[in-house]
Amino acid sequence: MNLGNLSSILIVDDVPTNIHVLAEALRADHHIRIATNGPDALDVAKQLPQPDLILLDAMMPDMDGFEVCRRLKDAPETQHIPVVFVTAKEDAVAEEQGLSLGAVDYITKPFNLPIVRARVRNYLALKHKTDMLESMAHIDSLTNIPNRRRFNETLDVEWRRCLRAKVPLSLLMIDVDHFKAYNDHFGHGAGDICLTTIASTLAAELARPGDMVARYGGEEFAVVLPETDLEGALQTAERLRTAIIVKDFSKAADGQSRSVTISIGCATILPQDDLESIALIDAADKKLYQAKAAGRNRVCA
Ligand code: GH3
Ligand code: MG
Ligand code: MG
Repeated sequence: MNLGNLSSILIVDDVPTNIHVLAEALRADHHIRIATNGPDALDVAKQLPQPDLILLDAMMPDMDGFEVCRRLKDAPETQHIPVVFVTAKEDAVAEEQGLSLGAVDYITKPFNLPIVRARVRNYLALKHKTDMLESMAHIDSLTNIPNRRRFNETLDVEWRRCLRAKVPLSLLMIDVDHFKAYNDHFGHGAGDICLTTIASTLAAELARPGDMVARYGGEEFAVVLPETDLEGALQTAERLRTAIIVKDFSKAADGQSRSVTISIGCATILPQDDLESIALIDAADKKLYQAKAAGRNRVCA
């Protein structure tokens, strides 16, 4: 993750002189953090903003670099950070071991600093591209909110978290009312602007950091509300419904005043071992269908 434009590099070595040499060579272009042992390195790697690259000494007392690398690659929150091993030892076996643990490269001491700098630049460029692709794969390109893939991942993560914590998880399924007519009347371009406005309006109404709205499909949205009981979910749903009613959509409708409404199906579940998150989606979907059948522009729970 970038700190401004500076990418951040974590240098891990038990010998401060080695850290100093690398830090001096890299700090003009990068934000440098350091750790002098394995456990500290693992801590720093998890802290936000996370490093974009880790230069990791292979030979350290207690926890060596290989073990640090293994743990970094085992943990979902750190496995995406590229690791470059740094060591004095020219040892093909160790090199192979480092690379097969998932390190992207291996550099040996004494350092050729221009080469170290060039390699670091190349790995950071790759990391930047990977980050961009990663975020594009999870964002809906029209509305700029999380897409269905991100929704599925988040719902599963929250399901397991709420299961462990024994707290309820709520879900809202939202569908725009008579949106086909909107498109037919104002055109598909205006429909697109309308969907984007709905998405940002819904996102702006969500209060808690764990809440998430995603585009579930064409004119359908889904809202994940962790640690939220039915009453809280209903309140949120009503707030979202009202926010859409009072929103001025005239810009998305050729300047004409035009009201847009949504129907919301609301479901709450206390996650259980013998259930899956799809049960929550099904329940909210059924309620959405009821809201449509009962006349639209309403919440059913
Ligand atoms: P209901 O109240 O029953 O939901 O009626 P509806 O017209 O909204 O439902 P229907 O499912 O028949 O129509 C959905 C419409 O949403 C049709 C489709 O063209 C439109 N739509 C879906 N995705 C997009 C999109 O990305 N952009 C635009 N402009 N329209 C979209
Ligand atoms: Mg629909
Ligand atoms: Mg609809």
